Amino acid sequence: MMTYTNQYTTVTREALLAHVQSKMSTKRFKHVLGVEKTAIALAEKYGSSEEAASIAALIHDYAKELPMSEMKSVIETAGLNPEMLNFGSEICHGPVATELAKKDFGITSEDILNAIRYHTVGAVQMSLLEKIIFVADFIEPGRSFPGVDTARAIANQDLDEAVLFEMKHTLTYLISIEARIYPETILAYNAWVTKGK
Ligand code: GDP
Ligand code: FE
Ligand code: FE
Ligand code: FE
Repeated sequence: MMTYTNQYTTVTREALLAHVQSKMSTKRFKHVLGVEKTAIALAEKYGSSEEAASIAALIHDYAKELPMSEMKSVIETAGLNPEMLNFGSEICHGPVATELAKKDFGITSEDILNAIRYHTVGAVQMSLLEKIIFVADFIEPGRSFPGVDTARAIANQDLDEAVLFEMKHTLTYLISIEARIYPETILAYNAWVTKGK
C-alpha cells in the first residue's frame, strides 16, 4: 500500500490503521478501508494528493462509535455548534473526528480536516479532496443500495455531478423515512442544485 511522507501526520499509516481499527467494529473498519481504496483511486483520477486522500479516508469515521457523552464533551471543549447534538451521532461524528484528528494524529492540513468534517453533509463550497471523501464514502465497494451503481458511474465521469447525485439521494431517503434534516444539509443541497444554472 502507501508509505506516508509524514508531511500530514505524526504517525505512520500502519499506526493510523491500528488506532482506527481499535475504535470500531470489523464491519465499519472494512468500510473505512473501502473508502480509502476508492478515495485514492478518485485522487489519482482527478489529480489530488493520494496521501491526503488516504489519511482523510482512514480518519473519516474515527468517532462514529464514540458514546454521545464523549461526543458532547469534544463538541463543548472545541466550541463547535451545539445544535449538532440535537441530530445525534450521524451528524456529530464528522466534526468530532476532525477534533480527534488534530489531537491524536497531529493533523494540521485544513483540507484534510475539512474533508473529515464535511463527509456526511457536504458543504456549500467544497475542495477537490472534500468532494473525493464525500463521494468515496457513498460509493465504496461495500455499499449496496438502489442507485449505488449509478453513483459509481457518475463518479467516474464527473465528480461535481456525483456530489449532487449523492446530496439528492440522501435527502430523498431522509425525507422518505421522515428523518429531521440538519440545516447545513439543506444549505449544501441548495447551493449544489443551482450550480451552473
Ligand atoms: P457513514 O458514517 O459511513 O455511515 O456515512 P455518513 O457519515 O455519510 O452518514 C451517516 C448517516 O447520516 C447516514 O445514514 C445519512 O443518511 C445520515 N444523514 C446525513 N445527513 C443527515 C441529516 O441532515 N439529518 C439526519 N437525520 N441524518 C443525516
Ligand atoms: Fe460517516
Ligand atoms: Fe457520506
Ligand atoms: Fe463512512
